[in-house]
Amino acid sequence: MLNFTSKLMAKRVFSGFRPTGKQHIGNYLGAIQNCISLQNDYDCIYCVVDIHALTTLENTERLQEDIYEMAIDWLAAGIDPQKSIIFVQSHVPQVMELHTIFSMVTPLSWLLRVPTFKEKVKMQPHNVNYGLVGYPVLMTADIALYKGEIVPVGEDQLPHLELAREIVRRFNSLFGNAFPEPQAKLTSFPLILGLDGVQKMSKSFNNYIEIAASPQGISERVMTAFTDPERKYRSDPGHPDMCNIFCLHKFFTPTRVEEIASECRTAGIGCVDCKKMLAQSISSTLEPFRERRAIIASKPNYVAEVLADGATRAEAIAKDTMKEVKEKMGLL
Ligand code: ADP
Repeated sequence: MLNFTSKLMAKRVFSGFRPTGKQHIGNYLGAIQNCISLQNDYDCIYCVVDIHALTTLENTERLQEDIYEMAIDWLAAGIDPQKSIIFVQSHVPQVMELHTIFSMVTPLSWLLRVPTFKEKVKMQPHNVNYGLVGYPVLMTADIALYKGEIVPVGEDQLPHLELAREIVRRFNSLFGNAFPEPQAKLTSFPLILGLDGVQKMSKSFNNYIEIAASPQGISERVMTAFTDPERKYRSDPGHPDMCNIFCLHKFFTPTRVEEIASECRTAGIGCVDCKKMLAQSISSTLEPFRERRAIIASKPNYVAEVLADGATRAEAIAKDTMKEVKEKMGLL
């Protein structure tokens, strides 16, 4: 087993990420950043939620590769298996049991009004499966199985967390207090827009920049980005606060933000110059990440060992919770 330091009595942090393969800078700025910083003071559990992925996947050929690519990104970004538990959702099957139990205390009407469910119905009208509507129930089971109190996520997950609180509140009132009500922990970049400047950055919308992209790959993606929609000609003054590229400069070029804003407003720089600068900043900020990623990738079996070790630790917690749940419900 890995040399793991448990923080007894610390609050429990839980976050789950769908195995979408290599992570993008929206995932990093919106959630992974907090996952990393919380590790020192909290008892953190991070999960690759592969069962959730099945709600949208029509074939699973790439699933194992996507789990690996995602886990390696987390490790290279700074999630430390000596401080946190990192595991794959389906390796701890108790979550499916708790999901079924929670599905009995969740009114269908709560689930049908969830905005992401309605979006998914539009996106995949040919595959409106039962799992799609139950997505927030499974997410609640993920968090509650480990008695998660703090959930580092992006803003898009807030409606799901609201529902998670309602579900555990309902369970607690029906069967006795078993679960804390989980609270979201947002970063200062809770919603990163995609390169289209309209939708959130997401693998689903193909509008993302991967954190593992090469400098050339970063540059190619940044150059396709939409900028201030009101700036049509190079000589037009820009509106940095309406521009997605400027938002990314705030994180990736923090020392020059004021200067960039003022040069944009006075048309001192054009959007192409601004994008070149951003590509350079992203590339240099992520260079140490790319180096760590290459080192981890060169260690055979390392990622698999981390995930197996994480599942063993997670399952010990999950078993205790399920025993308590079953006792409270009269199933034992
Ligand atoms: P994707 O939308 O690419 O499929 P996920 O839904 O798996 O990514 O999101 C994983 C985590 O990253 C969640 O906590 C989510 O809130 C956060 N996240 C995803 N996209 C963004 C974004 N564009 N801005 C901020 N946070 C994001």
